Amino acid sequence: MVAVVASPSSMSDEHELLRQTVRQFVQSRVEPQAMAHDESATFNTALLRELGSLGLIGVTIPEADGGAGMDATASVIVHDELAYSDPGFTLAYLAHALLFVNNFYFASNAAQRKRYLPRTLTGELVGAMGMTEPAVGTDVLGLQMTARRDGDHYVLDGRKTFITNGPEAGVFLIYAKLADRITTFVVEREFPGFSSSAKIPKMGMRASTMCELVLEDCRVPVENLMGTEGGGMTNMMRNLEIERLGLAAMSLGMARRCLDAMVQYATERRTFGKPLAEHGQIQRYIGESYAKVEAMRALTYNVAATLTPGSRNRLGTDAAKLFAATAAKEVADAAMQVLGGYGYCTEYRIEQFLRDTKLIEIGGGTLEAHQKNITRDLTRR
Ligand SMILES: Cc1cc2nc3c(=O)[nH]c(=O)nc-3n(C[C@H](O)[C@H](O)[C@H](O)COP(=O)(O)OP(=O)(O)OC[C@H]3O[C@@H](n4cnc5c(N)ncnc54)[C@H](O)[C@@H]3O)c2cc1C
Repeated sequence: MVAVVASPSSMSDEHELLRQTVRQFVQSRVEPQAMAHDESATFNTALLRELGSLGLIGVTIPEADGGAGMDATASVIVHDELAYSDPGFTLAYLAHALLFVNNFYFASNAAQRKRYLPRTLTGELVGAMGMTEPAVGTDVLGLQMTARRDGDHYVLDGRKTFITNGPEAGVFLIYAKLADRITTFVVEREFPGFSSSAKIPKMGMRASTMCELVLEDCRVPVENLMGTEGGGMTNMMRNLEIERLGLAAMSLGMARRCLDAMVQYATERRTFGKPLAEHGQIQRYIGESYAKVEAMRALTYNVAATLTPGSRNRLGTDAAKLFAATAAKEVADAAMQVLGGYGYCTEYRIEQFLRDTKLIEIGGGTLEAHQKNITRDLTRR
């Protein structure tokens, strides 16, 4: 690691220990498998279970319920470190640990936690979250999946698409409209009327998978209503904030990797009788990339320090992801330019990071969605 920085002030000894633990795990277990899973476009579920055995799935879940009892900063550390090595796997981890486990925990009741939490905290049971539909993405409040009560079941009808972990997951948080009000349900793959499509091929983040979910007269027991009827908006909006923070942290990890790669290459590669690093135009790529990495680090960790299950920071989490997404893509592009033809080929993995950084400008809210949210919040003040 060549970039030298001071730790953000919100970092405790416990956070530093967590970073060291994750970094060691990344070097020994994540890095060796990353390229192969990008090439084969497969999610390494055994690696997810290894994270579970280290207690890294329930980072934000209280210790009393089997988690690590840590905060949003800790979650950012894990995403930052994992994405330095394997962004696709980190996206699968995010979909499991934040979109399912964190979301589920803060909206579920004791019986639901007993049934689903232990196996999702170990990674034995993979989770996913279904919000997006074939005809509804950014305009999520217009979602069309319906739910109706039928005796001791709810019956769900509709489709979800782009669902990360969809092919592997055994349990899903599904948003549907019950009497036109968004409501959350815990849906098991084995419930009658549930099916999923083949994997959807994609440009980047290929070590995670996604597919469409099809619910046709899907029967969900009443005890699998999460929270209250019509209460889905609250947990959807609350969880979107930590999701966006996790995605900003992933951008930071990817940008750090690309910066390190370009600094090392510019030091070793010589043209016109001197190292690349001595050419002014290359210095511009490196200097600007370093500044972007530091800015995204400061913003992401600052916002993380404000986020708790009881406090909201939509403005901050939108801003962190809006800035980090584009900055990371620019840093990856700069790295490819510094590495020239070697950057364009697969060996140094820069082409992979360039593909992977692009996703953060779309998934979990597009750039345009963040711009709109931020403007709406600022003009309301
Ligand atoms: C790899 C990947 C993984 C994903 N994982 C999940 C998951 O696990 N669960 C899940 O529920 N979803 C998931 N998604 C879906 C993701 O959140 C959506 O793709 C995203 O919210 C955008 O929705 P959309 O693709 O339907 O785009 P659209 O909403 O159709 O937008 C298309 C374009 O128009 C722009 N646009 C739309 N409305 C406006 C407007 N009013 N003003 C200006 N511009 C506008 C958008 O910003 C975008 O540029 C995933 C997507 C990808 C690509």
